[in-house]
Amino acid sequence: MVSGTGEGTHTTTRRQLIVLDNGVMFIDTPGMRELGLLGASEGVNKGFEDIIELSNGCRYADCSHTQESGCEVLAAIANGELSEYRYASYMKIRKESEHYEMSYLERRKKERAFGRFVKSAKKSMKR
Ligand SMILES: [Zn+2]
Repeated sequence: MVSGTGEGTHTTTRRQLIVLDNGVMFIDTPGMRELGLLGASEGVNKGFEDIIELSNGCRYADCSHTQESGCEVLAAIANGELSEYRYASYMKIRKESEHYEMSYLERRKKERAFGRFVKSAKKSMKR
């Protein structure tokens, strides 16, 4: 692994099996989704090691490589070290990944609401 640290720390699986009185089952496996998300992030960096390398030199750690001063990625495009095409495809994948993470958080929010719904449904089914 490239990073060497932190691997496996996010893979703790908190699996939950919810069984309603009418026999309907729900399986909540956040660990599985987190694994999927980790895979997606790795996919972004794969093949763009040179851009990742450049981004390490950016002035700001959270540089978006779009307009910041002191951005090494933009500097590399300016001096021809990095092709605009590669930059564009990197940004595209990054954006898709961000979108994925956003929808992931959105889903988690909905699932929490769903969990409450299941809870109250279970309660109302008790006689
Ligand atoms: Zn940058």
